[in-house]
Amino acid sequence: MDEQLISRVVGEVLSRLQQTTAPIESGKTGFGVYERMEDAIDAAHASFEKLTKAGVTARKQAIGAIRRLSAANAEAWGELEFNETKIGRLDHKIEKLRICADLVPGVEFLDRMAFSGDFGLTIIDFAPWGVIGAVTPSTHSVPTLTGNAINMIAAGNAVVFNTHPAACKCAATAIRAYNEAIYKETGITDLLTTVVKPTLETFDGMGKNPKVRLLCVTGGPGVVAAAMKTGKRAVCAGPGNPPVVVDETAEIDRAARNIIQGASYDNNLLCIGEKQVFVVSSVADALMSALEKAGAVKLTASQIEKLTNAAFGDPQKGGIASANPVLNKKLVGADAAVLAKQIGLDVPPDTQLLFGETDEHHLFVEEEQMMPFIPVVRMANVEAAIDAAIRSEHNYKHTAVMHSTNIRSLTRMAQECDTTLFVKNGPSMTGLGLGGEGFLSFSIATPTGEGVTTPMTFTRSRRCVMVEQLNLY
Ligand code: NAD
Repeated sequence: MDEQLISRVVGEVLSRLQQTTAPIESGKTGFGVYERMEDAIDAAHASFEKLTKAGVTARKQAIGAIRRLSAANAEAWGELEFNETKIGRLDHKIEKLRICADLVPGVEFLDRMAFSGDFGLTIIDFAPWGVIGAVTPSTHSVPTLTGNAINMIAAGNAVVFNTHPAACKCAATAIRAYNEAIYKETGITDLLTTVVKPTLETFDGMGKNPKVRLLCVTGGPGVVAAAMKTGKRAVCAGPGNPPVVVDETAEIDRAARNIIQGASYDNNLLCIGEKQVFVVSSVADALMSALEKAGAVKLTASQIEKLTNAAFGDPQKGGIASANPVLNKKLVGADAAVLAKQIGLDVPPDTQLLFGETDEHHLFVEEEQMMPFIPVVRMANVEAAIDAAIRSEHNYKHTAVMHSTNIRSLTRMAQECDTTLFVKNGPSMTGLGLGGEGFLSFSIATPTGEGVTTPMTFTRSRRCVMVEQLNLY
């Protein structure tokens, strides 16, 4: 062995020892957390190359470590995220992390194809991209990065994250812990990297760096537009405004319970969460009574007006009369009791949802408000309800929900809403495997069409052709 080799091996062993004993503290560098985006990308790239050499076994080990940690730390990290962002509900933040362990698919989801015949054998396999640049939202920071990490590593990639600045400390804590655990399992560090202080400039650095081969952004319209402008291929999980239709054939009590469950989940922060209800007028009163019976609190017209002012009426931006009313971010993901307080109403602190009757053009119908207040719009018949629901979805092609037992109506809405998720007779989260069949990801690629993302979303198709040999017959 030459001297250079010995000193390199000793150096690597020492640096690994230092890393494994480093304390996990949020906001600090180490174990995947870097000051500079360029360094975070370089580290992820070096790890990608190591992962490629280590093979699918190492991918499985890394994913296993992430699953174990997300379940074991669900309470601690849920609390950390809740305290940092101050939005949503702690119990649901914890649940969102727990379900990542079981419901997000891994390497078993990777497909391949083979064509065998007189001309030989052709295989199509699905290869990694390399380093993926991922952007995560404030509404579910650690759950989104956990789901992305499992999917992307399963496909053989490394990931650099530009997390939401308002939820970057909890994200960095999880990334550090995941990397430490992955290192212990595989000897590879930095499969997941990030920067201490994510900004628009660090996003720009990610978008321009040639080592980042693919982007996956999860967020509102701004980040989707920004990702598409980079010129890189981008998987975009964009905004939604999911409507619910309830027709005269629906099981009304069940529909009411489902609407409360979906619209109040994490105080309506989920992009798939029910945002407005269109109910056929013959059952509108029954639905509203059932909502009240199931614990939701009904607001009067004047209370709704006051809440609308509080939710959209920034006086500096022209209030609710302005052409572009601005959502009051302070109320996004707030408890129903906090919304009620805004309008001088005291409701029990455990109230899950407020609702009230509005017309189709109300701001709460039009805007993706992400608050536990749901407007209910009375419609003449199911045809009109479906039409209005589709209009309110704004062609985001995200999520729609229907409560009905009429096959024709369910079929019409399924075909015409053209959304990525369409849930029938259940709360919206059943569309992500929580109480419905199927798997989970917190990145639902809507404008770019990949749907609920899986390991396959983060692969490149490669074809390998052997001519006149290797076919068995
Ligand atoms: P947001 O758009 O404010 O932020 C999302 C991420 O994008 C953050 O990391 C933010 O820093 C970044 N970002 C925002 N504007 C940017 C720009 N111009 N350039 C670069 N980066 C930018 O959204 P949020 O409030 O954190 O999350 C809620 C939104 O995300 C809602 O619209 C919701 O529907 C959507 N969302 C969609 C999905 C999905 O799977 N489709 C999942 C979760 C959230």
